[in-house]
Amino acid sequence: MNAQEMYAQLGISPAVLNFGESVLQGVKDQFERIDAIAEYNQAKVIGAMQKNRVNATHFNISTGYGYDDEGRDNLERVYADCFHTEAALVRPQISCGTAALALALGANLLPGDELLSPVGAPYDTLEEVIGIRPSPCSLKEYGVSYAQVDLKEDGSFDYDGIRKAISEKTKLITIQRSKGYATRPSFSVAQIGELIAFCKQCKPDVLCMVDNCYGEFVEELEPTDVGADMIVGSLIKNLGGGLAPTGGYICGKKACIDRCAYRLSAPGLGKEVGANLGLLTAFYQGLFLAPTVVSSAVKGAVFAAAAYEKLGFRVVPTSREVRHDIIQAVELGSRDGMIAFCKGIQSAAPVDSYVTPEPWAMPGYDSDVIMAAGAFVQGASIELSADGPIRDPYAVYFQGGLTWYHAKLGILMSLQKMLDAGLITL
Ligand SMILES: *Cc1c(COP(=O)(O)O)cnc(C)c1O
Repeated sequence: MNAQEMYAQLGISPAVLNFGESVLQGVKDQFERIDAIAEYNQAKVIGAMQKNRVNATHFNISTGYGYDDEGRDNLERVYADCFHTEAALVRPQISCGTAALALALGANLLPGDELLSPVGAPYDTLEEVIGIRPSPCSLKEYGVSYAQVDLKEDGSFDYDGIRKAISEKTKLITIQRSKGYATRPSFSVAQIGELIAFCKQCKPDVLCMVDNCYGEFVEELEPTDVGADMIVGSLIKNLGGGLAPTGGYICGKKACIDRCAYRLSAPGLGKEVGANLGLLTAFYQGLFLAPTVVSSAVKGAVFAAAAYEKLGFRVVPTSREVRHDIIQAVELGSRDGMIAFCKGIQSAAPVDSYVTPEPWAMPGYDSDVIMAAGAFVQGASIELSADGPIRDPYAVYFQGGLTWYHAKLGILMSLQKMLDAGLITL
């Protein structure tokens, strides 16, 4: 059976397949650049593993207190070397990205300190962590204040505003690398480096933390290469490589990481406790696979942008823009478009492919939300997934794909569903 017949069996018509192939011709150079970055990052990961003499004993399970867990401690050295930091905390006890961010903030801010975001509003879930939306145990409840400087109209940093906002009280500056589900641009590592340099010029001892979610391995440099004191993220996104079933990481200055460890376990105990529960093989191997997994996701995002752009839809970023994270927004312009797109992604999944996504009311949203995901790890957004609120401009946010071919199938399937619904013509 040839590829066309195989795709036909999966429900992709020759018209959609041919359209997809013609789109691909136009992004070949982008794919070459993405492959070169993956190759660089693969070497970086292998180098860090070799330097720390990773061997089979590092995959052993620890239980209970997890004392003398050499595999866990060595994984943290691998992370630290990979991201060129003094220390790292990589634990299954950090249950998600928000938990990792809350940990890094809570551990390094004391009553009377101020947290500053110079890049506008932070990711949704951080509003409760910070106390922008009141919540028990928020930073605000503990006497940590918050200041924010919005980006300028054109998406650039408001340096004057930032200089004015940095005060005696400013202890920590949080910078979100990926736009997440907002409409602002994502920042390159070089841009983040300029911002950090400016902040440190204004106040040399201020701590700069980067929310690195969705950005890891998309470029050759990471924020810790350009002055960040801490980077923070989730293992069910980029760095878990699809294999980590849970977890989060923080890499950075030893003083910051030690405080995070005290906060995670208990003052005095710190990094010494924390059983690995048998997850270390997945963490090591996931990190090993992460460069190619991330490159697959980025290729999927570029392909989606090129395909929908060609059909006249607005896409952010465009297919020609250099990528800083794995997220692709496609403005489908209608409720039906969003449903068809998400049905396509769902029906291309290895898990739950027979399920039909429907718009539904979700807590915390003022409009219905539609989500498509068929993942091995619940909610893992490094796996192929799409979602968005059903409201103008009817944009779906698309991300992930553990393999490029799966991401490609997902996009082809979305095009097929759009075609079948009469929403596009090829
Ligand atoms: C996903 C994400 C988070 C939160 O991570 P969760 O694992 O969903 O808790 C925070 N910031 C950004 C930019 C993200 O993309």
